[in-house]
Amino acid sequence: MADSNPDLALVKRIAVMKPAAPETSTPADAEARRAIRPVICYPVDALAQPDLPVLRAARDGWRKIDEVMIPPRDARSFAVPGGAFFRITSIEGPQVGDLNLWNAHDTAERFFSGKTRALHGTHLSTGDRLWSNLPFLRPLATITADSLDWYGFDAYGGAVHDVIGTRCDPHTHRLLSGGTYHQCCHSNLTRAFADARNVPLTDAEMAVHDVLNVFMCTGFDRITGQYFMKASPVRPGDYLEFFAEIDLLGALSACPGGDCSSEHSSDVARCHPLLVEVFQPKAPPAGWQPPERSSYDRSHGR
Ligand SMILES: [Zn+2]
Repeated sequence: MADSNPDLALVKRIAVMKPAAPETSTPADAEARRAIRPVICYPVDALAQPDLPVLRAARDGWRKIDEVMIPPRDARSFAVPGGAFFRITSIEGPQVGDLNLWNAHDTAERFFSGKTRALHGTHLSTGDRLWSNLPFLRPLATITADSLDWYGFDAYGGAVHDVIGTRCDPHTHRLLSGGTYHQCCHSNLTRAFADARNVPLTDAEMAVHDVLNVFMCTGFDRITGQYFMKASPVRPGDYLEFFAEIDLLGALSACPGGDCSSEHSSDVARCHPLLVEVFQPKAPPAGWQPPERSSYDRSHGR
């Protein structure tokens, strides 16, 4: 919880930032430097905004063309044609999902969590886009509905659908605990990609990338800066809906952390399945065209 006394918060912040005790003496103008107002790194005013009413109008008369159940502590892949929609729905109980997206025709192009975060902030909701990696950098999907958009930021600084976490993985688990766990989202997504593309696990692992943490409630501790998670506010029936801007291969893992209220990388948490549904509109949204890859010529100054 944030301290109501700002002086106390400042003392705590200085006390626990790294290193625990500063090795460098505080300069005379320290407070003046701290008081400088921040500027937004990537103002997105120049970005073409998605036309949500037009995208949503394409739902009229849409037809469900696929449905994939994601078992707890496992992942499945799914295909979404460009111009179609997909929904991720909580069905039996609070559950977090880890989402990967690839260009279905060239899986070297994949979701770029870091740049999406730089453009849209730490947590995504309606109107935000999921961008692809360099040198492609185009929207892979646009969020067209979010039944948890009411949550906002809570008193701890937590919010849902983050692009700050990476995905739980067996390597970090080994690093921190020495243990072996095979149902981390990284492994689940690796198996799902290997099955989808009929490639060895070692190749599939290289295709797995940082995720959109669907339904996960996370933030940064305001005192220590540490990444935190808390019980997801998602309830059965809640969903996140996407419009596919190009032909997509997707994979979703039902995280072994369940609602991520306590721990992951174990079989301790109560886990539930997730549902992915794919909807084909009668016609593509009016005026919609698949976005082009970045037009930068890649000469890099030579
Ligand atoms: Zn996970």
